[in-house]
Amino acid sequence: MKKILLTISLLFSTYLIAQSTYIHCGKLIDTNNGKVLKEMTIVITDTKITAVKKGYIQAVSDQDKTINLKNKTVLPGLIDMHVHIEGEYDKYSYTNRFSLDEVDVAFKSTVFAKRTLLAGFTTVRDLGGSGVNISLRNAINKGIVIGPRIYTAGKAIATTGGHADPTNGVRKELRGNPGPKEGVINSPADARKAVRQRYKNGADVIKITATGGVLSVAKDGSGPQFTMEELTEIVKTANDYGMITAAHAHGAEGMKRAVLAGITTIEHGTLMTDEIMDLMKQKGTYYVPTITAGKYVAEKAAIKGFYPALVVPKALAIGPKIQNTFGLAYKKGVPIAFGTDAGVFPHGENAKEFGYMVEAGMSPIKAILSATSVNAKVLKNNTIGSISVGRLADIIATDEDPTQNIHTLENVSFVMKNGVVYKE
Ligand SMILES: [Zn+2]
Repeated sequence: MKKILLTISLLFSTYLIAQSTYIHCGKLIDTNNGKVLKEMTIVITDTKITAVKKGYIQAVSDQDKTINLKNKTVLPGLIDMHVHIEGEYDKYSYTNRFSLDEVDVAFKSTVFAKRTLLAGFTTVRDLGGSGVNISLRNAINKGIVIGPRIYTAGKAIATTGGHADPTNGVRKELRGNPGPKEGVINSPADARKAVRQRYKNGADVIKITATGGVLSVAKDGSGPQFTMEELTEIVKTANDYGMITAAHAHGAEGMKRAVLAGITTIEHGTLMTDEIMDLMKQKGTYYVPTITAGKYVAEKAAIKGFYPALVVPKALAIGPKIQNTFGLAYKKGVPIAFGTDAGVFPHGENAKEFGYMVEAGMSPIKAILSATSVNAKVLKNNTIGSISVGRLADIIATDEDPTQNIHTLENVSFVMKNGVVYKE
């Protein structure tokens, strides 16, 4: 008994002394100003950054810890605005929905979450799954599961037969008649109900499928799927609950309607016209490109039997176009928010997107800002996205300077989230 009490009191006494971590950074990317600083020290106490100083500052007490990253480039944890953390597409995905229980999905999701965090992504926005993503977010917040901070949409909202109608391609008896609760709406009243249901379920953001999509078992991959009235109601109701909104969109008409309705982000944006680009600039709508997913589906569509027959022509037509659209939109000045659609391709490969963005004409530093300070702003979270005093200690490091070699972000060598080191 005495021994137990002693252990408890020792635990408390070490906890009470404010222990700090000093990180010595050879280079540090300042995402507030888009500059690379040399020889800096970050001081972390508990979960937060308490100082950022020039030079290598020595720790003051024996309790403090020093981490040597003098030969690394240090930057804020990366933020991906578009993932599906519950699953990963493969040729079994279409049958999995009949064979996997929610618990099976949950176990798999923990693997993807950990892989994503260790790849340097300390925050992600999950744009749709079964709803397991809400429990996963809670488990990560409680420290039960290792993974990134998650903003989740729960289940996406679609119209009947639309890209996120969960019963597409299912035999007649199993189709049922999904409604707002399942995220299928057919009127402004349904739209309101579906958003409120998501709020009740614990979603942080609202995702809609404004046009047809590539991977659903449906013929159309780009036509509009909501009326203007439905879209307006979704955005208005989401805003009432303080939730930002995301619209999956390939075709121009559905995309334009979503922008006009006041959507926060356009996902994929494949057939974006000049008119829509101007409209997005004017309204401050962000474009989340997901170039990696586009390239991946085009590549896999060439493998016979990887996707159902209805999906193949859509993947071949839409997938390869995204990178070009991104290049045009970026040059035109459309605000860009980094996002990949990981889950369509393997989780943990999110950073490939940086290389594709740079290849299409964006500077490496701008690409890095789009995944840090810009995404923090889109999420309305001023505690992440930069290494500055008062922010959460979400910190990563790379072997090379990513402003010199962007691909170094594909192999991060250090990951800290909320002041806890997960990779060193
Ligand atoms: Zn997606």
